Amino acid sequence: MQFRFSNFGKKLGGPCGIQELMDDLGQAMTSDPAMRMLGGGNPAHIPEIAAVWRARMRELLEDGGAFDKMLGNYDPPRGNPAFLSALADCLNEACGWNLTPANLAVTPGGQAGWFMLFNLLAGQHADGKRRKILLPLVPEYIGYENQGLEPGFFQACRPIIEELPGRVFKYRVDFPAVEAALGDDIAALCVSRPTNPSGNVLTDAEVARLAELARAHGIPLLLDNAYGLPFPGAIFTEATPVWDENIVLTLSLSKLGLPGTRTGIVVARPEIASAVQAMTSVIGLANTNTGQALALPLLRGGEIIRLSREIVRPFYEERSRRAQEWAHAAFAGLDYGIHRSEGAFFLWLRFAGLPITTRELYQRLKLRKVLVVPGEYFFFGLGEDWQHSRECVRMTFSQSPEVVREGIEIIADEVRRL
Ligand code: PLP
Repeated sequence: MQFRFSNFGKKLGGPCGIQELMDDLGQAMTSDPAMRMLGGGNPAHIPEIAAVWRARMRELLEDGGAFDKMLGNYDPPRGNPAFLSALADCLNEACGWNLTPANLAVTPGGQAGWFMLFNLLAGQHADGKRRKILLPLVPEYIGYENQGLEPGFFQACRPIIEELPGRVFKYRVDFPAVEAALGDDIAALCVSRPTNPSGNVLTDAEVARLAELARAHGIPLLLDNAYGLPFPGAIFTEATPVWDENIVLTLSLSKLGLPGTRTGIVVARPEIASAVQAMTSVIGLANTNTGQALALPLLRGGEIIRLSREIVRPFYEERSRRAQEWAHAAFAGLDYGIHRSEGAFFLWLRFAGLPITTRELYQRLKLRKVLVVPGEYFFFGLGEDWQHSRECVRMTFSQSPEVVREGIEIIADEVRRL
């Protein structure tokens, strides 16, 4: 006899496309060392950054008190007070904001922060209405899709595709489509900037216009800054970090090389930051302390910003440049396009007229020991068929250059055969 799972249990505990895919990726990685892993969102192990975290861990160990506190104490659910205060100062100094710790809440990873924020704002409300999260532009981060606890949680708009010279394209927000979708059933607008999967960075003008639309509708603009400014800085265009009382911004220490510590940060008006801290206490009592303890002195001197600017950005920018070079050479003669690589860790490839779905392409590539992520998964909330969604794949350039280069050549060969 099987026990019955609730709707919540089925939604979060049951198999779903992305969970199966991630499991598949993880299994292939752990059981097959020859696999070329171009699938995940893992940050690269940048030697200079890894050395900083190792040195910090030694400092903590040597200062026995700090280490013992880190392991032995529950922090308040909002986060470690010293961390929050240093973070507010650091962001104010770097971005000219006026934050206090009341605007901040630490979460166990950015991902968990998103789960809290989405379900805080969208779903069934006391007035009986169901409200959704509007994604002004898809493809958008796959990790959001299953986070909504109620059905029909996301609604999305197609972007305008701007074709640029040299087989490059760029997504632009289709503002008339966003305005048409903005009814009173929308709880918030949400975008990742830089965007996972496409590497798009919404321009300052696009962000300003989205913020203005959100403000005019009395809803927040949620900005996922997992890769952005002022840290970790995996962003290759000139973009201004933005925050105001109407924007909810998330940051994370993961892409700075600390995904194992699970440290996310919500920057929001006090009522939202307080709600997030309350949710943290209900779900997990407190946050993980390690990432906060490791990063604390780097916040104090603004060192975290310097590392982002001088090490992280050039590292990924160079990885991206080389991957694009190899891709253009390998795909020559195919009907392909590459999204302009403006940030994050991915190249977003489009093979126009691909005769099979990208899920099938994923399977074929896996047999040839290359793992990518099929593009179909990133178009959730669209509610309509769109040929483009079956023509794209995401590949990371954060792995070793040899793996990336070989992977690109095999992708080209497989697409050419098709
Ligand atoms: N947001 C985006 C766009 C991401 O790509 C990721 C991770 O890949 C996350 C949020 C969550 O990251 P974490 O939970 O490690 O902070």
